[in-house]
Order: sequence, then C-alpha cells, then structure tokens
Amino acid sequence: EAPLLRIEHLSIDLPGQDGPVRVVDDVSFTVAAGRTTGLIGESGSGKTMTATAVIGLLPPGAAVSGRMLWQGEDLVTMPEQDRRRLRGRGIAMIFQDPQAALDPTQTIGRQVGEILRRGGMPAKEVRRTVIDLLDRVGIPDPETRHAQFPHQYSGGLRQRAMVATALAGSPRLILADEPTTALDVTVQARILALLRRIRDEEGTAMLLVSHDLRVMAHVADEVVVMYAGRICEIGSGHEVFNSPAHPYTRALVVSVPAVRSKTAIAEPLPGSPASPAERPSGCPFHPRCAKAQDRCGSEVPKMRQIAAGRQVACHFPEET
Ligand code: SF4
Repeated sequence: EAPLLRIEHLSIDLPGQDGPVRVVDDVSFTVAAGRTTGLIGESGSGKTMTATAVIGLLPPGAAVSGRMLWQGEDLVTMPEQDRRRLRGRGIAMIFQDPQAALDPTQTIGRQVGEILRRGGMPAKEVRRTVIDLLDRVGIPDPETRHAQFPHQYSGGLRQRAMVATALAGSPRLILADEPTTALDVTVQARILALLRRIRDEEGTAMLLVSHDLRVMAHVADEVVVMYAGRICEIGSGHEVFNSPAHPYTRALVVSVPAVRSKTAIAEPLPGSPASPAERPSGCPFHPRCAKAQDRCGSEVPKMRQIAAGRQVACHFPEET
C-alpha cells in the first residue's frame, strides 16, 4: 500500500532579485498514516515552504520539481481543480496565527461549519456537527460559543477553533505550521496535548512545522531536520533528540537542554543560519560546524541510511 504522503526529490525555486533561488533542494521523506512527522529547522531551512507546497499554496512564480505522492497520486501534476477539492478534506492546515486566519466578521460556528455547508450538509446537521467539533477540541460551552465571534475568544480558544475547522473536513493529514508559537507556554502545552489526542483518537496524520525543539519533542513520532533547504537527518523523535547523528541536529539539541535532561547547560548555536540565496558550497552547514574538514567545503554530503528509519547527510556523522 502506498504511504499517505511520500515526497521524492522535491525542489522549489522562488524568483529572486538575481534569478531563481532554490529554497528547497532535493528533499525526500515520508509521512505515514496516523503518525506525526515534525519538520524542524531555523528560518530559511525550507520547512515552511515544503509544507506550503504540500497544501498547494506556494507563492506565484514558484517552480516545483520532483514528486509529492498523496496515496500514490502526484500532487505536483494534479490539476488545480482536484487539488482544491483535496484541500480541507484530504489535507487541512492549521496556521500559526488564528487571529489572521479567522474572519472577524463571521461567527466561529459559521467558519468551522463552512466546509460542511459547501459539501451540502443540511443546516441543522451542520450546527450539530459544529457543536460536537467544538466540544471535541475542548471549547467549553459549545452551545453558546459557536454563535460567538473570534474577538470573544482567547488566543488559545481561537487556536482550538482553528483545529476544529481543520477537523471539520475529516482530513487524513493536518499540516500545522508553528501552531503554538503565538501562544503562552501553558496554553501551548494544552494545544500540543490536543494535537496528540487527535492523532491518537482520530488517527489523523500530522505534518508539524516548527523551529521549537520542545514542541517537537512533545509531539513528533518522526523528525526531519532541515538546514538551508536540505535535509540533514531523519529518524524517530526519540532517536534524533537523544542521539543526534548530524552535527547540526546535535548543535540544535544542546542549545535547548530541556529536550534531553533538565540539568544540562545550554550551549548556544554558533553563527547564524545560512540563507538559501547564498548557500555555502559543499555541506551548507560547514561554516558553523565544529567537525568540518576540507572535504565538507567542496563535496555535498549524500543522504545515507545509518539504521532502520534513520538517515543522515554528513561526511562525518556522530556516533549514535
Ligand atoms: Fe559538519 Fe562536514 Fe558533516 Fe557538514 S558534512 S555537518 S560540515 S562534518
């Protein structure tokens, strides 16, 4: 059986001032049904652009090559009409800022139920389904709440309403781009618990994009680490955080000690992220890598499998 989503050799070029810029470069990974895959990296790593390509909302002028196989069917060549039909139903998206994603002039109930109404569900049934959805995502008093407007909701409740909107189409995959970044720490934890519960109870797969390792350590079953548009490392969340194989992943992990042990001391990541427009030659991480040798500056490291489900692109990976 084909995996839910298999990305193969995906590259994305965006128009830039001095010609096209390769923001995603030869990226391949799989999102399995019912699992949460985390795309992690600093700004400019290409993680958001990869997710944006999956939902089909790339900026105008973007050139895509490679394949994005949705249950075996290539999203890259799929007619726009079919992609639109898939959006919300097969694949839904939760945005970072629910304030911007919700329409302030429409009630929450109306927005959550829109996809159901468009699908021809009778009004009474829509109302009942929406109230049930609001209840499932932990919005208290959904009978009253569904008739309220976004400004009557707190930040955390708005993000819950976004999750309800995503669930309304019964998607098989939810893309979540920094879904908790705009929220305070306690609310963050509750939203992450909600996302985990949805994966467990509804069996919905998730592609979670975040720069925040703590978020990933909480939620991701599999982790894909990106740097300057390329993948550095793929593995289970547990393995990647506890014994990172790529020096970049290692540097990320030691910069956030809470991911591993509460007593470790944080070592800040040296230097600043490489921009895809000026991607260093060879291994793009070499200017910041403590392990770099001559070869790293000239030869692009190929992705290789180091264990089952574990891949790394480095000439001199860490012992795992
Ligand atoms: Fe460091 Fe070289 Fe590995 Fe790149 S290939 S991460 S520069 S050791």
